[in-house]
Amino acid sequence: MNISELLARNARKFPDKEAIIEGEVALSYREVDQNVNRLASSLARLGIRQGDKVALYMPNTKEFAYAYFAVLRLGAIVVPVNARLTAAEVQYILGHSEAKAVIAHDWIYKELEPLVGHVDVIWIKTGEAQDGWRSLSELIANGTAETIVCPLKEDDEATILYTSGTTGKPKGVLFTYRNILAVANMMAFETKMNKDSRLLHIMPLSHSAPLHLFFIGGMYVGATHVLSPSFSPEALLSLVEKHKITHFFGAPVAYLLTAKHPRLYEHDLSSVQYWTYGGAPLSSNEVQFIAKQFRTDRLMCLYGLTEAGPNGVYLAPEEHATKAGSVGKHAALHCEVKIVDEYGNEVPVGEVGEVVLAGEGTMKGYYKDEEKTAEALKNGWLYTGDLARRDEDGYIWIVDRKKDMIISGGVNVYPKEIEDVLRTHPAVVDVAVVGVPHPEWGETVKAFVVTAQPIENLAEECKRFLEGKVADYKIPRLYEEIRELPRNTTGKVLKQVLRGMSNETIARG
Ligand code: ATP
Repeated sequence: MNISELLARNARKFPDKEAIIEGEVALSYREVDQNVNRLASSLARLGIRQGDKVALYMPNTKEFAYAYFAVLRLGAIVVPVNARLTAAEVQYILGHSEAKAVIAHDWIYKELEPLVGHVDVIWIKTGEAQDGWRSLSELIANGTAETIVCPLKEDDEATILYTSGTTGKPKGVLFTYRNILAVANMMAFETKMNKDSRLLHIMPLSHSAPLHLFFIGGMYVGATHVLSPSFSPEALLSLVEKHKITHFFGAPVAYLLTAKHPRLYEHDLSSVQYWTYGGAPLSSNEVQFIAKQFRTDRLMCLYGLTEAGPNGVYLAPEEHATKAGSVGKHAALHCEVKIVDEYGNEVPVGEVGEVVLAGEGTMKGYYKDEEKTAEALKNGWLYTGDLARRDEDGYIWIVDRKKDMIISGGVNVYPKEIEDVLRTHPAVVDVAVVGVPHPEWGETVKAFVVTAQPIENLAEECKRFLEGKVADYKIPRLYEEIRELPRNTTGKVLKQVLRGMSNETIARG
């Protein structure tokens, strides 16, 4: 099934039901579907055909929804691009994906102005037409209303999502219709969505979890989608309250910031049935803090990665009382999980191995990168690059990312373990631990620390705090106070930047 058909079907089943709410504008399923038809017919006139790539450089807006479904309706391939990327970053993605057109939002199209005339694509923006730019509203107004039906097979390609590049250059993750529908179906099933569900989309729809799990998950059942173009704790709280949101998905950083918001308690959040979080680790202390602040027992953890759809493992709300901080025990619907050693054999309870996932959601491969695809997909399993162990009850605890593991004097050190402890120091606001080159031990452990107020002897204080809580050899030897940790747009710490900063210091002596 063409994903766009989910929208068309909802328009036939519930024509007058609210499909999309953005600000003060509410659109029914019929209205959204009609706009999508009109846009699709205009894009076809511009020469967009099945298999062409169309990049969307847009925040979460109704126009994103029109563009996303219109492109798919033609059998073309959507390339969602994070609205916070710079022109140079977007240029890389346009070149790599061989995009034929770009649809940018009026609020941010200026960022791409330097590329117009240099990059050979059709430039479209949401507002009025301008030099080099066509107008999306005009394309909608001038389009025809009849539905275009592009015959597609499950294994046809639907989307290329570029990873945020925390571990290197962005990779183009290629998904088929089957992949996306499996993930959407999983989310709708595991969080009991139905046509009365009301979803808040405040995380960028250019990422796999917000887009596939949540947006398409909700389209699966004909839910109402509230779109917020940007995140702030205030926006999150007021939109949940105003629209009686039932389902929310947020990155850990969104929860942590909101949990500290001074007016959190003034908001009625009781409509929420599932507060889902994932995409980055949260310690059990942090999960408990969030549950307390949000006064909820409806937190649900999702573990996965772009390449898995994302599908993976989940920790249900009722499991949080005893297992907060783990990512769960069971793979979600349409997915299987194992923790394996270097030969692909499952490791015993308590031992660290790599998480591997298999299922319908798993990407077709990295676009134009057979080597990386072969490294990631082996014997039907996706190698996640995440290290984890199972406890006696079978629950999976993520230890760290393989690439972040430090080998010091031949012994493995997992930064996350040290970070989780240091974060509980009352004066520590944020921390990241990395390995830096050492002439004798290969690597030594270094902590970058953000503090609330200056700590007189940072190294001594941190070492003293860690003593007895983690083994001696894991205690960082080097410390550096830093104003803010470098993070990507989804809040993940850019460890390669920190390693680079340390290398420069070492080079300077
Ligand atoms: P890149 O692949 O370029 O490094 P990225 O890190 O942003 O980009 P994502 O697919 O967004 O890629 O992130 C997936 C990773 O996030 C997982 O491999 C895992 O390390 C981490 N992660 C996701 N969900 C959880 C979770 N619930 N708990 C702990 N870690 C998680």
